[in-house]
Amino acid sequence: MKRIFVFALSVVLVMVFSFVDVKTCPAKTRFVTIGTGGVTGVYYPTGGAIGKIVNKKRKEYNLRVTVESTGGSVFNVNAVMAGDLEFGIVQSDRQYQAWNGTKDWKDKGPQKDLRAICSFHPESIVLVAGDDTGIKKFKDLRGKHVNIGNPGSGQRGNSTDALTSCGIDWKKDMRAEGIKAAESAKMLQDGRIDAFFYTVGHPNGSIKEATSGKRKVHFVPVTGSCIDRLVAKWPYYAKAYIPVKFYPMASNKKNVSTFAVKATFVTSAKVPDDIVYAITKEVFDNLDAFKKLHPAYGVLTKKNMLEALSAPIHPGAMKYYKEVGLIK
Ligand code: GLU
Repeated sequence: MKRIFVFALSVVLVMVFSFVDVKTCPAKTRFVTIGTGGVTGVYYPTGGAIGKIVNKKRKEYNLRVTVESTGGSVFNVNAVMAGDLEFGIVQSDRQYQAWNGTKDWKDKGPQKDLRAICSFHPESIVLVAGDDTGIKKFKDLRGKHVNIGNPGSGQRGNSTDALTSCGIDWKKDMRAEGIKAAESAKMLQDGRIDAFFYTVGHPNGSIKEATSGKRKVHFVPVTGSCIDRLVAKWPYYAKAYIPVKFYPMASNKKNVSTFAVKATFVTSAKVPDDIVYAITKEVFDNLDAFKKLHPAYGVLTKKNMLEALSAPIHPGAMKYYKEVGLIK
């Protein structure tokens, strides 16, 4: 008898609690984090812009987007693959290399769970040098003290690609530093380095800071037949220029030739479709509002935001693209 009573009581309790759960408790908010870059780059405000747009609907989606400042592209891919972050902003060349298991992923192999969502602004390979260093051409870097980018950053791969292609051994022929981009500007201004590399969209806080101090600095063209060969070799590199209008204090008077990649938005196959769908839909449906959040987004169109992706598109994003006819 007692046992039947206990059983009946537990059945009632289970029913009561499931009723309470469904009818009165709002569903739990799901938190997702976007890995970005240094706070003075463009990735960090890009993560912020995505969060701002998506979080307006946080009740509807039970979703809250947060942003984390990180060491950059390579760090972001690895954190997304490890499940430490749900989303990351990553250079298009880094997405290609991670998906194919080359460069920084040579030992780990292809990152099979990497999924693409879309791409954002173009990022050019920027080389800034002090006017007093005598660095006028790329090859003048020989023997100089140069920040090539922290391990974990996107730019470290671009600077070492360019140096190697031009016959400069960055381990022997120069004094290379591996410092984060956010610290580069101050180091250049303080005279602690001669030059630094940064792969970044324009305008951005780091290059503004680097060009507006007491020490006169300039952009060095990243050009020559060695760079032409590099750009011809890889599908993710394209020729580009740095628009100097954003940096009126730099010594250059004309736009400066270099090469470029694109910022892309990635996630893992393990992130649920409905979350990726919600984020994709909010960014694309509100693209005009999104574009107002940073001048680097001026060139974005729904169509070019589907370019420069190497990993397969996440099914949540694909659902949206098919719904609106962006992908047939
Ligand atoms: N392209 C840089 C990287 O991958 C980050 C640039 C930015 O933060 O805007 O590390």
